Amino acid sequence: LSERLGGVFDRLRSRGALTEADVRTAMREVRVALLEADVALPVARKFVDQVTEAAIGQNVLRSVTPGQQVVKIVHDALVEMLGPDTAELEIDVTPPAVVMLVGLQGSGKTTTTAKLAKLLKKQGKKAMMASLDVNRPAAQEQLEVLGTQTEVNTLPIVKGQQPVEIAKRALQSAKLQGYDVLMLDTAGRLHVDQALMDEMKAVADISKPQEILLVVDSLTGQDAVNVAQSFSEQVPLTGVILTRMDGDARGGAALSMRSVTGKPIKFAGVGEKLDAIEPFHPKRVAGRILGMGDVVSLVEKAAQSIEQEDAERMAQRLAKGKFDMNDLRSQLAQMRNMGGLGALAGMMPGMKKAQQAMANGAVDERVLLRMDAMITSMTPKERAKPELLNAKRKIRIAKGSGTTVQDVNKLLKMHQEMQTAMKKLKKMGGIKGLMAMLG
Ligand code: GDP
Ligand code: MG
Repeated sequence: LSERLGGVFDRLRSRGALTEADVRTAMREVRVALLEADVALPVARKFVDQVTEAAIGQNVLRSVTPGQQVVKIVHDALVEMLGPDTAELEIDVTPPAVVMLVGLQGSGKTTTTAKLAKLLKKQGKKAMMASLDVNRPAAQEQLEVLGTQTEVNTLPIVKGQQPVEIAKRALQSAKLQGYDVLMLDTAGRLHVDQALMDEMKAVADISKPQEILLVVDSLTGQDAVNVAQSFSEQVPLTGVILTRMDGDARGGAALSMRSVTGKPIKFAGVGEKLDAIEPFHPKRVAGRILGMGDVVSLVEKAAQSIEQEDAERMAQRLAKGKFDMNDLRSQLAQMRNMGGLGALAGMMPGMKKAQQAMANGAVDERVLLRMDAMITSMTPKERAKPELLNAKRKIRIAKGSGTTVQDVNKLLKMHQEMQTAMKKLKKMGGIKGLMAMLG
C-alpha cells in the first residue's frame, strides 16, 4: 500500500493549502486501504467523505508531501473515531453487577467471559460465571473447565434448564453468596436469527445487565455491519469486544463497529490464553488499518520541528523588539494547524484572549482564515511595515480578501496590541526566561 500511495502522492502538487483535487486523489487510495483492511463499504464511504471535507484547505507542512499530510489527517480522524481509549467495565453498582456477553457462535464469547472474570479477580472482585448456552453440546462444561483454570466459580450445571431459568438461578445465587459481578455467557448462532435474539432479550429483561458486550471476531469482514446492526437493534449494547486481534486482521471491523453502534470498544482479545486480553488502543489499530505508521510519525515529527523553528525565529525577532504582519500570520497559522497556540503565543496577552475565545468557540476557523486572507492581500512591504496602511490601501486589502475595512482595522488593532505586548516583554528583559520556557 505504501508504495502505491507513494506513487500517487509524488504526483500531488499542492503547497500551502491542500487542494481539492489532491485531497480527492489521495483519498481514493485511502478508501482502497480501508476496504483492504475490511472496513465495511458504507462505513468506508462515509468516513472518506467526512475526512475529504475536513482536509481540503489545510496547510501542508514544509518538510512533508501533500500525500503524507493527507495520511496524517486520515490517521487522526481514525483515532478519534475509534476512541475513546480508556475502557473499563461499568460495575460500580449495588452488587451483583451483571455483565452479559452476546455475539455470533465462535466469536469468542466463552473465552472472553473467562478472560474478563480473570481480570476482575485480579482487581480483587468476586466474580461468578454462568453459561446460558444450551444449544451447543458441552458448552456449559466448556465454561466450567475455564472456571477451574482461572479459579473463578461457575454456576453449577443443571441439565434441562432453559437460558432464562439459568439466568434467574445465577442471579439468585450471586446475590445470596455476595458476588460482586455475575458474568453471563450466552449462546450464539452461525447467523443472526430471531429465536436467538428473543432468548437474548428475555435474559436481558430479567437480569438487567450493567454491561451488554457484543463480542466480534476481528476477522469478520463486510458482515460486521450487519452483525452490529442486528444486535444493537435488539438489546441496549454498552460496548464491543474485538477478538482475534492477534491474527492477520487489519482491524477494519473496529471502525465498522464504532460507526454502527457508537459504543466504545472496550477490550481486544489477543490470543487463546486466558490472560490474552488488552484494553483497546485506538492509535495502534488506526495505524494497523492504514498500514502507514511510519508516515504518520514522520508528519508528527515535521510538525514538531516546524513549531520549534517558528518559536525560535519568533524569539529572535522578539529580542530585537520586532513583530510584523508576517509574525502575526505565522501565529494565526499555528492556531489553525496545531489545534492551539504554541508555547510562545500562549504567553502573549493578545493571543491569550484569542486562544480563550477559540476554546469557547467564539473565534472559529473562518475568522482565522479571513485574517490570513487579509495578510495575503498585503504587499510584502505592507506586511513588514503595517504603519504604511492608509485608507486607500485598506480598501484595496478589504476588496482583495473579500472582507471589509472594518475587518482590516480589527486585524491592525490586534497586531498593534501584540506588538505592544512584545515591547513590554522586551523592556522587562524577559527574553532569556522566555527562551528557557520555549526550550
Ligand atoms: P463462542 O462460541 O463465542 O463462545 O467462542 P469461544 O469462546 O468458544 O471461542 C472459539 C475459538 O476462538 C476458541 O478456540 C478460542 O480459543 C478462540 N479464541 C477466542 N478469542 C480468541 C482470541 O482473541 N485470539 C485467538 N487467537 N483465538 C481466540
Ligand atoms: Mg460459547
